[in-house]
Amino acid sequence: MICCLDLEGVLIPEIWINVAKKTRLKELEITTRDEPDYDKLMRYRLGILKRERIRLRDIQTVIRGMSPLPGAKAFLAKLRKRFQVIILSDTYYEFAGPMMEKLGRPTLFCNRLSTDKKGFIANYHLRQKNGKKEAVRAIKGLGFSVVAAGDSYNDISMLQTADRGILFRPPAKIVKEFPGFPVTVTYRELLAAFLKDC
Ligand SMILES: [Mg+2]
Repeated sequence: MICCLDLEGVLIPEIWINVAKKTRLKELEITTRDEPDYDKLMRYRLGILKRERIRLRDIQTVIRGMSPLPGAKAFLAKLRKRFQVIILSDTYYEFAGPMMEKLGRPTLFCNRLSTDKKGFIANYHLRQKNGKKEAVRAIKGLGFSVVAAGDSYNDISMLQTADRGILFRPPAKIVKEFPGFPVTVTYRELLAAFLKDC
């Protein structure tokens, strides 16, 4: 069995919300929890960064000041003792690097950003459409069973494709819309949900 975990909202705080706080740009607080259309969301974010002259390195400075969610590192270490874990995220390697270090360097599948000569984010590059779901499908194709956990709209197809899906600290509207998944709030509950039937 392979465990697939979302990153933001499950192991680390929402990167964009922290960037919004540090830059005092309320407009950047909108996340996949609010806007299910990821391309629309990213175009909107990159437009704001360009307008406000915020470079990639400015965002990286904010991220270096962030810590994993309390208890996340210990939870991940416990999970990795029992299973192989892959983190499936819609974030970018350029953002996630310092946080991966703080989490003990787990395997991360995510995406890339490109910058222009002045260091402004020019574009984002998804390896494939529906990367989380496709990763789960591919891992299952290798003969593994997959249990996946996430907190947000961009995790739902991953949870549905996995053999078992678990919600962790989801917003109430997601619980209402997708009542089929077990809902966990603490890392103890999340670990127990992964261990169920093992
Ligand atoms: Mg998330």
